[in-house]
Amino acid sequence: MKHYCPYCNSEQDYYIDKRIFKEYKGVNVNVVENVPICKKCGNELIINNIEDENLKRVYNKYREIKNIITPSEIIALRNKYNISQRELTAILGFGKMTINRYENGFLPSKSQSDYLRLIFKDECEFLNKVNEAYVANRISRKTFSKIENAINGGQSIYEHDNNYELKLYIESELKTSPNVFNGFKVLDLDKLQNLISYIASKVKLYLTSLNKYLWFIDMISYNKRAVSITGLTYVHEQYGPVIINRKYEEISKLNEKYKREDKEKNDGSIQSVITSKGNYDLSSFSNKEIEIIDYVVELLSNKSVKEISNLSHKELGWKNTERFEKISFEYADNLTILNS
Ligand SMILES: [Zn+2]
Repeated sequence: MKHYCPYCNSEQDYYIDKRIFKEYKGVNVNVVENVPICKKCGNELIINNIEDENLKRVYNKYREIKNIITPSEIIALRNKYNISQRELTAILGFGKMTINRYENGFLPSKSQSDYLRLIFKDECEFLNKVNEAYVANRISRKTFSKIENAINGGQSIYEHDNNYELKLYIESELKTSPNVFNGFKVLDLDKLQNLISYIASKVKLYLTSLNKYLWFIDMISYNKRAVSITGLTYVHEQYGPVIINRKYEEISKLNEKYKREDKEKNDGSIQSVITSKGNYDLSSFSNKEIEIIDYVVELLSNKSVKEISNLSHKELGWKNTERFEKISFEYADNLTILNS
C-alpha cells in the first residue's frame, strides 16, 4: 500500500498501526483507530478514507452509548412518507444539507436525534410540523398532500374541518409581520371569525359592509390602544376600505361560525349576506376590545350599506389614499367617526 508522504515528499509504503481511541465528547468509546504510518520515515500519514472510517466507528459507538438516531432510521422515516432528503430538511427547518449528512453517518445532536425519533413515532406531531412548513412556504402543496395521504391513507384527518385548506390559504395570503398596515398585529383568523359571527348576530350584515365594520373597529382600536384587533390589511377601493386583495371573499366562505348566502336582487346583481351561527366565542377579546366593537356595531347598525360607505369616505384614511393603495393605521389618529 502506497500513499504520498509529506515528510518524504514522495509516494511511500505505509502500514496500519492499530490504536485505541478512548474518549469522544466525554464518553468512553474505546474503539479501534487505524493510523497509517510511513514505512520509510515512521511519521503518521493522513489518508482521508481511513480517517473517515475511524470517525464512523467513533460515531457509531457514541451513537450506541448515547442512543442517537441511526442513518437507517432516518432513511426509513423518509421511505415511510416517500419524501426526499431535501423535503425532510425543509419540513424540520434544519440547515440545507443536514439530513444528507446524518444519513452519511454524521452525528445529530442529542436533541435533534430525540426530536427525529419523536416524529417518527408520533404521526400527529409530524403532521403538525408538515403543516407548519406548508404554511411557511417551505414545502409545496404536493409534498404536503403526499404526507397527509401517507398518514391518513387518503382520508384527511381534517375532513371534519372543510375550512382547513381555506384557512391555510387565507393565512398564507394575509399573515404579515406587525407593521403600520396591519395595525402592528399579526392576523388572528380565529379571532376574526368570532368577531364576524358576533357582528352578524347583532346586525343584518352585508359582505360589502363587513369590510367597513372591520376597518372601523380596527382603526378605533388603533386610535385607543395603538394596536388593531384583527391584524387585517385594508386598501382603498371605490366604495371604501376593503380587505387587501379582496380576501373578504375567502374569509366569508369560512363556515364554522357564520354562513354566507348570495341572493340575486331584482336588478340581477348579487347581494351577499352573512348570518351568524350564534356560536361565537369572545373569550379571547378584552373588555376594551368588546367595548370598541359594540360602539361600532351600535353606530352602524341602523345605517344602510350606502350610508356606511359614505361614513368611511369621510375618513382621512380613505380621502388621502388612492385606489388600491394600502391604508396606513397612522390615519387612525384622527377619526371622524369618533365625533359622530
Ligand atoms: Zn515518510
